[in-house]
Amino acid sequence: MGLDNLFSILNILLVIGIAALAILLILKLEKLKQLQATNQGLKKSLNEMDEQAKLILRTDIELNKAQEELDKKITSLYALQRMSRAISSTLEENKIFKIIESTGIEDFGFEKSCAFLWDPVKKAFLQQANIGYSQAELETIQSYLKENQEAYLELLSSKKTVSSLSLSQEEKSKINKVFNVISFVISSVSPIGGSRGFLFMGTTDINMAISEGDEEMVTVLAHQIGQAIDNARLFEKTWHTQQQLERKVEERTHDLTKALEEVQMISKRKTDFVSAVSHELRTPLTSIKGYASILLAGKLGGIPPEVQERLEKINSHSDELTHFVNDLLDIARIEAGRMNMKKETFDLEELLRRVLDLLAGQLKEKNIALSYTIPKEANAVFADRGQLNRVFINLIGNALKFTPQGGKINIYAKISGNAVQIDISDTGCGMPHEAQQQIFEEFYRVDNTINQEAKGTGLGLSLVKHIIEAHQGKIWVKSTVGSGSTFSFTLPLPA
Ligand code: ADP
Repeated sequence: MGLDNLFSILNILLVIGIAALAILLILKLEKLKQLQATNQGLKKSLNEMDEQAKLILRTDIELNKAQEELDKKITSLYALQRMSRAISSTLEENKIFKIIESTGIEDFGFEKSCAFLWDPVKKAFLQQANIGYSQAELETIQSYLKENQEAYLELLSSKKTVSSLSLSQEEKSKINKVFNVISFVISSVSPIGGSRGFLFMGTTDINMAISEGDEEMVTVLAHQIGQAIDNARLFEKTWHTQQQLERKVEERTHDLTKALEEVQMISKRKTDFVSAVSHELRTPLTSIKGYASILLAGKLGGIPPEVQERLEKINSHSDELTHFVNDLLDIARIEAGRMNMKKETFDLEELLRRVLDLLAGQLKEKNIALSYTIPKEANAVFADRGQLNRVFINLIGNALKFTPQGGKINIYAKISGNAVQIDISDTGCGMPHEAQQQIFEEFYRVDNTINQEAKGTGLGLSLVKHIIEAHQGKIWVKSTVGSGSTFSFTLPLPA
């Protein structure tokens, strides 16, 4: 092998080597590119992560702020609840603002507050509450209100709330200056009746930005104050009315007691008088009747028929008069509580039968059918037998008197509560409604044809009422003119 051949082989080997190196280089370059791309991707991810970290940080700050505001809101809500409860528990208007002053407003996030009510008589805003203001500051506020009365009255009538949030820069600065604050809320206090006013709350804290929540809080508090004022005024009014009423009732009671005492005195005098007169009348009446009876019996010799007729009249009139005097005397005795009722348990039907025996002649004469129903359970009564006898004689006697020929009388007994109720109904002339209220009064008689003809004193029903009431019973009447009447009374059942 020659030297040329050796060079050729070396050249070939060199070329191969360079080619191999070139391929290797290309491969390395490719790898480098790949690394660069990876590097860029990593850088991008790093940037993105950085952004995210910043976002998380920002969110965290905002969350903290929101938490702080929430805490503030909760604190002021609690404060509002406490204040509302305190002011609504008083019924004295002048105490409402005192409560605000003593409870304090720090928890609302404010440190200065004042309240004014419009006095329509003095035509001025009168200060009600003050937190954090000196006398001099209050005077400045007063004179500012005087100058701006119209604007504030308008605010009150619109029942609005204004604050650093809603007012123009110029208005804000003015108020800030007068009330010596940096931000504020003013809300109208609007009771339904009477003068209105406003509640001011402000702060000098530069970091406190008034929020809608603050506005709402002060508005609610001002509304609560308005309601508390309403309640206090209503209570005051009711209390005054009640006082006046009580005074009037006292006066009237005093007058009535005096009048009652007078009536009782007059009634006692009347009773005493009637008793005395009746007693005085009874003695001569007894002797008149006695002499008439002796003469009639012919014990003093024969008498001519005309004299006999007159003596019989004297006799019967004396009987009527004795009856009248006895009734009068008994009414007076019962009224004076001097009539002793001898109460006992007895059979109602038995008593009724005796009364009917007495009245049988008159019933027959007028052809009146009388029936009665007394069930077993209502048959026993606890009463004064003699007095109950008079009650029946009077009531059935009246039924007989005021019922025309051929009429009907019905007596019915029943248990009503813890009493026996006895109804005596007739088909007689009845009586008008107005008369039904008065027939139990002494000497009252209905003006009708029967009464014009028949004799009567108007004492019977009064006596009956007195007897029934002395038995703790009641008596009443239901009647229709032309159809008849039902007299009902009650008597206690035996114990
Ligand atoms: P007198 O019967 O003596 O008039 P009373 O006191 O017994 O007195 O009755 C008062 C009045 O009540 C009677 O005059 C009569 O007008 C009316 N009155 C009483 N009972 C009846 C009756 N059953 N029907 C209609 N009117 C009656």
